[in-house]
Amino acid sequence: MIPNAGSYRLANARLHASLTPGLAATYDSDGFALADIAVADGRISAIAAHDRAAISSGAVDLAGRIVLPCFLDCHTHIDKGHIWPRKPNPDGTFMGALNAAGADRVARWTAEDVARRMDFSLRSAYAHGTRALRTHIDSVAPQEEISWPVFEMMRDAWRGRIELQGACLLGIEGVRDTKWFDGLAKRVAAAKGVLGVVTYMVPDLEELLDHVFAQAIKHGLDLDFHADETDDIAAISLKKIAEAALWNGFEGTILVGHCCSLARQPDLEVLDTLDKVAKAGLAIVSLPMCNLYLQDRRADQTTPRWRGVTLLHEMKARGVPVAVASDNTRDPFYAYGDLDMLEVYRMATRTLHFDHPVGDWPQAVTATPAQVMRLDGFGTLAAGGDADFVLFKGRSWTELLSRPESDRIVVRAGRAIDRQLPDYAELDGLMVE
Ligand SMILES: [Zn+2]
Repeated sequence: MIPNAGSYRLANARLHASLTPGLAATYDSDGFALADIAVADGRISAIAAHDRAAISSGAVDLAGRIVLPCFLDCHTHIDKGHIWPRKPNPDGTFMGALNAAGADRVARWTAEDVARRMDFSLRSAYAHGTRALRTHIDSVAPQEEISWPVFEMMRDAWRGRIELQGACLLGIEGVRDTKWFDGLAKRVAAAKGVLGVVTYMVPDLEELLDHVFAQAIKHGLDLDFHADETDDIAAISLKKIAEAALWNGFEGTILVGHCCSLARQPDLEVLDTLDKVAKAGLAIVSLPMCNLYLQDRRADQTTPRWRGVTLLHEMKARGVPVAVASDNTRDPFYAYGDLDMLEVYRMATRTLHFDHPVGDWPQAVTATPAQVMRLDGFGTLAAGGDADFVLFKGRSWTELLSRPESDRIVVRAGRAIDRQLPDYAELDGLMVE
């Protein structure tokens, strides 16, 4: 369907209002408009409202199929990915995940092990239509010495296919060893990474956060937190991060993931936190699949009664940039997943109600993570932009989100890519005891 040489035109493509800045067209109640796209030299040379004459003049007729810009996945853990066969979560709980992943890291995460699993993950993400991906990198000593060079090698190898970003990952208590943490911040800065920590309630949280912010300011780093991944209503580290950002006058971007406990807290507490999050300019990413798996897991095998996700609607209403992302894939934190952002969007639609109306929620997997990741021109379709998009069979949200769309066509720099997914058997050699 997509010509493999020369310039071409696609007619009758269904484009979404939230992802096509500047396209004057008639949008339906789903937010879609029919449009024609001209592609030349790997870029979109023009987009215009559909003109019936286009088809008779040689354009490829997409017959109303949805075309979305390639996805951005702003919160993943591809250094942990796919260890499930050798290290499953024993009971499906958060602590079970933390302990299992930690033990596997100490025992098995050589540079080769990390590199092969990362590459497997990136091939899957690429085949599903992802164009940029941020991974957290377990950076508890001595793993940072092993994984960061692998990340840098992988980022170079994948440049042009997936823009890879890395954020260090360690518990906030690791910041107490300031000499070691300052060395890590320097290491992250040298790799052009993002400074990240996991926050939870410890007595010296404010002091530790101030130190994290000071290091980020010193090295000009953006920040990326895991916050309050728990149902404990006393967990208010999101608010503490917002206060620290304001107090420190931080000017970089701050992405905060999870924020699960917020959805359990009393309204007055929630409103105060949301106001501070908006004022501090934080961006928030929810991880619906991992949250559904880990949160409200009950020791007595009873049924979960809470979805685990944070308050994205309330945040968006306050102008907070909000995204959804994959998080873990086939590791003790989430037994499933394949870095397919269409699956994430489908699950977010169900779990977080990205419908009635759909509005601009499609930005949560495209334009908004592009903004957070500082990737100009990613996540939208516009004349002059890269011809990086995904053609689906679906012609409406109900068609698009009801099937896996395994036969989608991913176009990069104007050409359809080989979408072969890596075979799980490739990793068998890494899974033996
Ligand atoms: Zn995570």
